[in-house]
Amino acid sequence: MSAKNERFRARNLAVHRPERKVEFPKDTDGRHLRISEYYGKNIFDFRTAKEIPESVKKELISIANTNKPLTKEMADVVAKAALEWALSRGATHYCHWFQPLTGNTAEKHDSFLDIKNGEAIENLSASQLMQGEPDASSFPNGGSRSTFEARGYTSWDLTSPMFLVSGTNGKTLCIPTAFISYTGQALDIKTPLLRSEVALSNAACRFLKAIGQETTHVQSNCGSEQEYFLVDKAFFYARPDLVMTGRTLFGSLSAKNQQLDDHYFGDISERVMSFMQELDFELHKLGVPSKTRHNEVAPGQYEIAPIFDRTNVAADLNQILMSTLSRVAHKHEFEVLLHEKPFAGINGSGKHLNWSLSTVEGDNLLNPGEKPEENYRFLTVCSAVNEAVFRHGGMIRAAIASAGNDHRLGANEAPPSIISTYLGDTLEKIFSAIKEGKTFTSDDECTMDLMATQLANLSKDNTDRNRTSPFAFTGNKFELRACGSEMAIGLPLSILNGAVAEVLNETADKIEKLMSSGKSSEAAMKEVTKEWVTHSYDVIFNGDGYSDEWIVEAEKRGLPNLKTTADALPLFMDKKSTNFLFEQKIYTQDELETRFHVLVERYNVIREIEFRTLIEMVNQHVIPAVLHYKKELGSVIRMQKDLSIESSVEKSIYKKINYATETLFTRVENLNNSINELAEDDEKRSHTIAETLMPLSEEIAELCNEIEEMVPDQLWTLPKYYDMLFLR
Ligand code: ADP
Ligand code: MG
Repeated sequence: MSAKNERFRARNLAVHRPERKVEFPKDTDGRHLRISEYYGKNIFDFRTAKEIPESVKKELISIANTNKPLTKEMADVVAKAALEWALSRGATHYCHWFQPLTGNTAEKHDSFLDIKNGEAIENLSASQLMQGEPDASSFPNGGSRSTFEARGYTSWDLTSPMFLVSGTNGKTLCIPTAFISYTGQALDIKTPLLRSEVALSNAACRFLKAIGQETTHVQSNCGSEQEYFLVDKAFFYARPDLVMTGRTLFGSLSAKNQQLDDHYFGDISERVMSFMQELDFELHKLGVPSKTRHNEVAPGQYEIAPIFDRTNVAADLNQILMSTLSRVAHKHEFEVLLHEKPFAGINGSGKHLNWSLSTVEGDNLLNPGEKPEENYRFLTVCSAVNEAVFRHGGMIRAAIASAGNDHRLGANEAPPSIISTYLGDTLEKIFSAIKEGKTFTSDDECTMDLMATQLANLSKDNTDRNRTSPFAFTGNKFELRACGSEMAIGLPLSILNGAVAEVLNETADKIEKLMSSGKSSEAAMKEVTKEWVTHSYDVIFNGDGYSDEWIVEAEKRGLPNLKTTADALPLFMDKKSTNFLFEQKIYTQDELETRFHVLVERYNVIREIEFRTLIEMVNQHVIPAVLHYKKELGSVIRMQKDLSIESSVEKSIYKKINYATETLFTRVENLNNSINELAEDDEKRSHTIAETLMPLSEEIAELCNEIEEMVPDQLWTLPKYYDMLFLR
């Protein structure tokens, strides 16, 4: 029996890899530099740049916070300083870096070279900084009406720092930009996110002004916890499904793979540790404030979490984090799997989006304060967020819909596809008392004084928070846990911001009205809080989100349960569901339609690639392994016949594997035919895929697993789950 197949070569490579040694910077005395001494070394932020005069900084910060138009004079000062900074660090090129609707990032490079009076110089002009012109026709636009005008332009986002990316042979200055068509249509993820920040800030400022706490700007903040898997590069390239789709399309999970529980927070292996150390080093230089790293639940699964930042910056930093993860992994002969479900049967990966609201002074509106009057504000904002999720849970679900995330949501390991809120025991008690009209009366046990101490308990609630909830309050922030690990976070964040902005605007209206009729701000806040709590009480669910009872209960409460991407995406086309977004000028109808088309098409394309890859792997790996084994069995049976020995065991194995293979072959033919018969219309196509082809492909996967378990280990040519999850 030959053991010289690709799989065994990969195993041999994986177990013998040495750890990669990295030289960390030292000072002249040989002392290792502290993180703070190299943090942000590779970013250029006008706020901290020494080359930019204080007066210009002040003006730019006010432009960034208020969305005033940027003048060319201002941009020129920044362009000059950024150019000098980049040149002194050896950069030769710059690029406008943006997030098209593919969910990845895109960049178009130009060199700093310019020819002036026949002489070569380096230059970065104000307009080159402010605007670029990539060809929009090559990016997904969902067949939007403006395709006849395919040109688009990128526009500098001064709220997000520029950064320097080093390759083996040079450095490029990356300028974060928004990507817009000439008709002003947002072709990217960032533009609507920035608009949602404006809407949210305006609404929150109105609310704060109404209660006498005026401020100039309110921002949303996000800290995203990123989960990922690492597999050895040799295994990755020996599995066509990992290369083509980012996940294994089948693979048998043997008993030994399931001893998983000791992995969470467990010892980090030497090789993975040296990867994490270099990763943090690279991230810190890029101004990504990576803070926490640990093993996750599944073997081979890890998490990295940065310190939170303003949402728009956090969305950019998460993209930088994801690309740095794969870049550094390659140096360690690893491949990073960012897919939501790389391995069936063991935990998938998500991205928890920790989200809060704070004033420009840093005052967190979701922080329960020590003083009662702060608690009125806190409860009002919490109840407004609850109301927002109650109203727009469907859209939040639609914004995190993807082929990959369908494997997690509702699969008893991640939050269900029903969006509910979890408030923790204390806050739920308070909300329930408010709803019953008990809280705000002085003779009730739930008085405001008592509440101050109760609120102090909120942090304790944190320790046993409900992991099954898709949207949980965790002390001084909410946590959207249903986002997929591979997704750009800007889309769901723009929807969440928009939903909360709508309710905060109404909150401000109501409070203004109540106060103009003579009520105190406290009394007005109490009244509005009660209204929101009562109205949106049904979205609160503190129980087990994985249970079947919850699905029944949620339906009774009228909460949408959009099981698959095919079910969820049509909400983008539903005017009733999206009205709040275009009323607040976060998305136009056209832009929402565009997103629908792009996302449905993307879903279909991903699934079709998966199906075709699956068919190919069956034909090129599974069936050949079976034939090999059958040949060996056959020769044993024949030999025993010559010796007049019965071959009952061999024959029954032969029949069993033969039967499984025949069934497999029929299913594969079926799948093949069904793909060819798919409807032209994307939406119809997506439903057939989700409802018919996916279950069929899962049956095929199960048969492959059955066969994998029957075929001798030596004959199996694809890396097995055991190899990929345990050998490193
Ligand atoms: P967990 O216990 O949920 O795994 P982590 O420490 O891994 O917690 O991650 C928590 C994340 O929440 C971090 O990114 C952190 O910076 C972020 N975070 C903390 N406070 C806030 C806040 N007020 N607003 C937004 N994000 C926050
Ligand atoms: Mg964490």
